[in-house]
Amino acid sequence: MRYEGPIYRPPSEANSLLIQATIGCPHNRCTFCMVYKNGPKFKIRDVAEIKQDILQARDEYGSKVSTLFFPAGNTIAMKTDDLCEICRYARQIFPDLERITIYASSQYIHQKRPTGLTRLAEAGLSRLHVGLESGDDVILKRIKKGTTSRQQVESGQWAMAAGLELSLYVILGIGGRERSKEHAVETANFLNAIAPDFIRLRTLLPKINTPLLKDIQEGSFKLLGPHEVLTETALLINKIKVSSCLTSDHYTNYINLEGKLPEKKAIFLEQIEAALKKEEVFFRPVYIGEQ
Ligand code: SF4
Repeated sequence: MRYEGPIYRPPSEANSLLIQATIGCPHNRCTFCMVYKNGPKFKIRDVAEIKQDILQARDEYGSKVSTLFFPAGNTIAMKTDDLCEICRYARQIFPDLERITIYASSQYIHQKRPTGLTRLAEAGLSRLHVGLESGDDVILKRIKKGTTSRQQVESGQWAMAAGLELSLYVILGIGGRERSKEHAVETANFLNAIAPDFIRLRTLLPKINTPLLKDIQEGSFKLLGPHEVLTETALLINKIKVSSCLTSDHYTNYINLEGKLPEKKAIFLEQIEAALKKEEVFFRPVYIGEQ
């Protein structure tokens, strides 16, 4: 099977078939992200080649594939017609498919407009994995996310109205000490405006060769310690009013919170309170990630 660049997929797609539809990331400017910084450059693969890979996967694994993820960083940036075509083809080749998912940043979701998103849902795309990171515009600008909270809200609302599931990723600590409170409050406001299917927590871990690491080393960005991250998490969860599945399915997190909001809100807050009683040395050390 052909694949170019780093293999990167959400943990929840660990058992999914991966068929590469795009290479790299068309944005590639987020200050905390190192995934595609050393290339390859963004490219959209030929639909004919993608179809060949789908067929080859069927020959290798049989037709009983239940979940499929089309890497790489922003497959939503494909032409709507082409993305629809590979989704329809995959569902024809794998009739038992329960889910087709992709990574999608808000600026590219927004370009699809409600009509394009409806067409994608009708073609069989099921879920968008979206790096929201923060609902705070000051932070979004600082991390060069390439979008605004208003555009993120619209994109999310359009996607959900089109019938696509939304899996939103929040980075705890991405505002640093300076904007921890704003990050928690504005992100909760954002989530309340959308009520996504999934809220997935990650904790900021500085990555090698990133602009954000340089800011940390120069002292202009103050990284949160474990207790500060937990306090930020409590504020965020406290402010979320909508129904959603919260999960912290990632190695960067200090504690594991898993369950439905609002039902488990009190339990999550108790878990955080208990974790705050532990000394910081009991949590994973802060280190520089290399992948
Ligand atoms: S975080 Fe996502 S959008 Fe930003 S550079 Fe990395 S892959 Fe691209």
